[in-house]
Amino acid sequence: TVVVRRRMRSSGKWARAAEIVRELEEKCATPLGRMRQVADAMAVEMHAGLASDGGSKLKMLISYVDNLPTGNESGLFYALDLGGTNFRVLRVQLGGKDGRVVKQESAEVSIPPHLMVGTSDDLFDFIAAALAKFVASEGDTFHQSVDRQRELGFTFSFPVKQSSIASGTLIKWTKGFKINGTAGEDVVAELTRAMERQNLDMRVTALVNDTIGTLAGGRYYDNDVVAAVILGTGTNAAYVERAQAIPKWHGLLPKSGDMVINMEWGNFRSSHLPITEYDQALDLESLNPGEQIFEKLISGMYLGDILRRVLLKLAEVAAFFGDTVPPKLKEQFILRTPVMSAMHHDTTSDLRVVGSKLKETFDIHNTSLKARRMVLKLCDIIAKRGARLAAAGIVGILKKQGRDTLQDGNNKQRTVIALDGGLFEHYTIFSKTLVVAIEELLGEEVASTVFIEHANDGSGIGAALLAASHSQYLELEEP
Ligand code: BGC
Ligand code: MG
Repeated sequence: TVVVRRRMRSSGKWARAAEIVRELEEKCATPLGRMRQVADAMAVEMHAGLASDGGSKLKMLISYVDNLPTGNESGLFYALDLGGTNFRVLRVQLGGKDGRVVKQESAEVSIPPHLMVGTSDDLFDFIAAALAKFVASEGDTFHQSVDRQRELGFTFSFPVKQSSIASGTLIKWTKGFKINGTAGEDVVAELTRAMERQNLDMRVTALVNDTIGTLAGGRYYDNDVVAAVILGTGTNAAYVERAQAIPKWHGLLPKSGDMVINMEWGNFRSSHLPITEYDQALDLESLNPGEQIFEKLISGMYLGDILRRVLLKLAEVAAFFGDTVPPKLKEQFILRTPVMSAMHHDTTSDLRVVGSKLKETFDIHNTSLKARRMVLKLCDIIAKRGARLAAAGIVGILKKQGRDTLQDGNNKQRTVIALDGGLFEHYTIFSKTLVVAIEELLGEEVASTVFIEHANDGSGIGAALLAASHSQYLELEEP
C-alpha cells in the first residue's frame, strides 16, 4: 500500500505541475490577433504621447536631434555610456566622408552595485574618475588641435526631459538604479561638476538616450535606418518622426523637418498585454512598482526572475523539487537571464545544461528529465512572450511611420531598424522569435522590405557622432 500511495502522490504532483505550466502558457499566449492589438495600441499611445506631455504612459520624449549623422563628422570625440550593469567609455577619431571611423578605443567598467542605489555624487564621481583615467591614456595617435577642449557625447539610458541637445533632467530611474535626489536634476550639470572635481577639462555637447545613440550610429552606416530598439537590461525604442506631427513641439520647425523621438516604450501599458500573477508580484516587489510594465515583460533584467517565480510556485504547490522548497528559489534576481538563456538553448538529449544550471543557481540536485523538460518549456513560454511583444511594439512604430504597408507603386522603400542590447545579441531564440513574429505581423511582402540589423555598440559611436555634429567649434569649420 505504501508503494501505491507514493505513486499516487507523485502522479498528483506531476498533474499539479502540468496544470501550472498549462495555465502559464495560456496566460502568456500571444497569438497573431493579440500581437495586432498590442501593435495598434502602441501606435495609438504614440499619437497620444506626441499630442501633449502626460498624454500617455508613453512619454515620447523630444531628443533635440533633428539631424542624423551624414558621414562628414570629423575630429576626436569621446563618448560615455551609462545605463546598464556596465558603463563604457569610448574615443573615436572621425575622418569625415572618406575617412569615417579612423580609429577607436574603448574601455568598459562594471558599476559596483552599491553605487546604483547610493548617492548621485558617488555615482557621478565614480564615472568621472574612470573617464579621467581613460582620457589620460589617450596617447598621441589621436589628433586634435591643442587649443581645443575635449568634447563628449553622454549616453544616459534613462528617461530624460531634454531642454536642449546638451541638457536635460532625469524623469525617473529605471532598471536596477534608484538614487535619491537625482530625479529633476540636470544630468549634464551633475556630470560636468563631477568632471571638474576630477580636473577633467571636457564638455558634454550631446546628451542622448541609448536608443538615440543607436539610431545615430545605425544611420551613419545605413541611410535607411529609421528606428532603433534596445533589448538589453532594459528595453526602449526611438524613431524618426516628422516634426509637424508632434503637436507638443512648440519650437522652430527644423530644417530637416524631422525630430527623433525617444519613446520610452518600456513604460507602455495596455489591457491587451498578457500579464500573469508572476508579473504582478515581480512588479510589486520591484524598485519601481507600477512603472515600466512593458519592460518587465520583455527585458533582460526581468525574464530570469519571472522564470524563478514560476519555479518557486512549482516547488511550493507541486513539490516540484522535492518535499522542501529549495531556499535559493526565494532570492530575487538570483536567476539571471543569461542563465535562463543557457538552459533554453540546451540541445543535449538529457538536458544536462538545464540540470547543471539548476544546481549552480539554486543548489537543486538530481532533477529528473521530466522536470528539466518542464523547465525548458517555461523558458520557452516566457522568452517567446517577451520577443513577440517586442515585435508587436516594433510593428506599432512601423504603423505610425506608415511603413507597415507597401507604399504606392512598386517602389519598395527599405526600412531598417537598428537593434542592440545583450538580450538581442546573446539570446538567440529570443531574437529569432522576434524576427519571425515581425514577419507574421507584416506579411511576407511587406516583411521583405523591413530589415532588423544588429547595431553592435552603435550607441557609443552614435553619441560620439552627435557630439561631433553639435561641437562648439563647428562654425569655425563650416565653409
Ligand atoms: C530606460 C530607457 C533605456 C532602456 C534601454 C529603460 O529602462 O528607461 O531610457 O533606453 O532602458 O537601456
Ligand atoms: Mg547599452
